[in-house]
Amino acid sequence: MVDSKPLFELYSQKTFFIVIVLYWLSGVALYSDESKLNAKQSKVLKESFSYLETLEPKRIRIDKSTYNRLTQFESIFKFGFSGKKLSRWIQSRIKKYSFGSTGEYIAMYHDGDVLLGRAFFSLNRLDRILVLLHEARHADGKNYGHVVCPENFQFLNPRDWKIHPAGKKGCDDVPDGGYGITAAFLFELGAFGYLNQTEAAHRYNSEISRVIRD
Ligand SMILES: [Zn+2]
Repeated sequence: MVDSKPLFELYSQKTFFIVIVLYWLSGVALYSDESKLNAKQSKVLKESFSYLETLEPKRIRIDKSTYNRLTQFESIFKFGFSGKKLSRWIQSRIKKYSFGSTGEYIAMYHDGDVLLGRAFFSLNRLDRILVLLHEARHADGKNYGHVVCPENFQFLNPRDWKIHPAGKKGCDDVPDGGYGITAAFLFELGAFGYLNQTEAAHRYNSEISRVIRD
């Protein structure tokens, strides 16, 4: 048909315009790789904190003297184990969350803001809390910045095997940095039976592997 071409062009222009508007409305920034969390991502974040707030001390499931010998939570946080208090501890340190490219990391902290990468949202709720707890520690200053992991660092990154810590700034030389505090938290989860002892120990060991001492 003679008139089919102009009609087609009109439609394609319209379609193009609609796509642009939808892209803009979706909240994806066109010229920056950093954006506000969308509704789904905010929900995931909220659910992570709700989960944390269910974790409260109950009957200790391990030998009391073993608990007393190994617990570090209170000496680090200055309050006894409590998911609600820990949630407030994190939220008082992280003021803003954004979504964007985090390169070789799952999340990045900068000046009160945490940038969350795509991988964060595929983690389970416990791993999401561990990431947030770790990032919140960076708010406490450069004493908690990382040091380079040894070139012969052999441990896997439990949250993303593609990330190899060897030779990268992904270790701590203080016992109560981002990795020490996640380990201390996992210890409590094992002690109170929120995780079985095997899982708690594996997870604890994995976090503590990043704390290196000469
Ligand atoms: Zn860190």
